[in-house]
Amino acid sequence: MKKREVLELASQTYTDDQLAELEHAMDFATSKHRGQKRLSGEPYIIHPFAVARLLIEWGMDMDSVLAGVLHDCVEDTETTLDEIESLFGRDVSFLVDGVTKVSQARSGMRDLDSYLPQTKDNLSKLLIAVSQDVRVIIIKLADRLHNLQTLQYLPVEKQKKVARESLEVFAQIADRIGMGRVRMQIEELAFSYLDPREFNHLKSLMKKRLGKSTRKLGTVRIEVEKELSKQHIQAEINGRVKSIYSLYKKLRKVNGNIDDIYDLMALRIIVDDKETCYKVLGILHSMYQPMIARIKDYIAVPKPNGYQSLHTTVLTPNEQIVEFQIRTHEMHDYAERGLAASFHYHEQKSKKNYVRKKTAVHLPTELQWITQMQEVAARLRDGEKISKKQLNVDLFGDRIFVFSPKGDIYNMPEGALPLDFAYLVHSDIGKHAYSFRVNGVIHPFDKPLANGDVVEVTTRKLSQPKKDWQDLVTTTHARTKLRMQLRKLGVIQAVSGAAAIIHDKALRKKRG
Ligand code: MN
Repeated sequence: MKKREVLELASQTYTDDQLAELEHAMDFATSKHRGQKRLSGEPYIIHPFAVARLLIEWGMDMDSVLAGVLHDCVEDTETTLDEIESLFGRDVSFLVDGVTKVSQARSGMRDLDSYLPQTKDNLSKLLIAVSQDVRVIIIKLADRLHNLQTLQYLPVEKQKKVARESLEVFAQIADRIGMGRVRMQIEELAFSYLDPREFNHLKSLMKKRLGKSTRKLGTVRIEVEKELSKQHIQAEINGRVKSIYSLYKKLRKVNGNIDDIYDLMALRIIVDDKETCYKVLGILHSMYQPMIARIKDYIAVPKPNGYQSLHTTVLTPNEQIVEFQIRTHEMHDYAERGLAASFHYHEQKSKKNYVRKKTAVHLPTELQWITQMQEVAARLRDGEKISKKQLNVDLFGDRIFVFSPKGDIYNMPEGALPLDFAYLVHSDIGKHAYSFRVNGVIHPFDKPLANGDVVEVTTRKLSQPKKDWQDLVTTTHARTKLRMQLRKLGVIQAVSGAAAIIHDKALRKKRG
């Protein structure tokens, strides 16, 4: 990776001032890393340059690109953060510091394991939390991706270790922030090192299969194209092939039979707006027999990482099973680039705003859990004591999304109960909650909500919170509000948290 190549690529996106800054950073990093070599024998500087190149390709803002160029300076050379701040500004040094901290957090993870839940999933969430700014994570992903691309130079033992960590932690992180394409690149590379035999076996299996179905799919595609243009719908149609790693995962689910996998190849239809997505779905269903159970509306109910699309699988007259994915250009961009896509859109407009408010202004609703986590992480850093339980439930639990009847989206931890929802909407709604309807049906207080539920709270002015509600809330937020109300009503004593627990325990014992 030559300096000139990076600058040339950058010149398509950034202003002249920014390009000058980029060149400055590249020269600075080159002199700092002088004499250092990669295991491939090449000068070390090709690595930061390659990372910067990826960040440019992903459409990141210039501060991120600069931090990409400088990301290994503090850790691997004599450079100090102050030096970076005085030359490239506070924002860049903040990002470089974040990248360094995430590396440290990773190596210190063993200690953290002793008091945090130990699954890999939590590890990825934790890394997001300590990084403070999601851009740090995106830089880290570029760093990891390039290391994977040059993994062949490492000893085999080390290759496997890096590959496993990439698959279990970094691919998950990419998925969580919606960066679908990066997730796939990481998975394919990592899997090919982790289990080369299986990887090659599946690759050739896939190749054989695709040869046959590509021609048949071509026919379907032409049919659909004709019908759409007849109905004056502008659409881009292309085929997408399943990745080897997702084939591997799916095969394990269906007991190894590739004939049971319907979406080895899918047709992707990209249109201008949401309404057209549904129109196209209707057209497809009038042309072919849909498999009802496989219709998925991720537009109305996005996946937790923000992914949106309509999916449907149909049976053609000559018995061919074809999956379609229908989405707008924006949804497509988001599916591929995730959070990185939102930086691109907002950067110019609200640069100042961004710096001041950090991530909060930019995250789509589906991703607000990231902000929440970062807030908790910041509180932890400030020395505030947060209970293990709170970390468990609010920070590290999986998230679901439920709707008010008006269509407002609320993000809650999995396992949340109706009262949690009521308190989330407003503490007065919680206070006077009388009954619940979920998707139009009466719903008991003790039954958890599910992703995509529409929750309606019926309130009555005279209805008051009851003591046993304490067993019917799971979030810290609801519990805190409820306790305050119960205390006000004189139902429970104003005692310390620990005393309250002891009191509750004793009470439960007495009750038998
Ligand atoms: Mn690096």
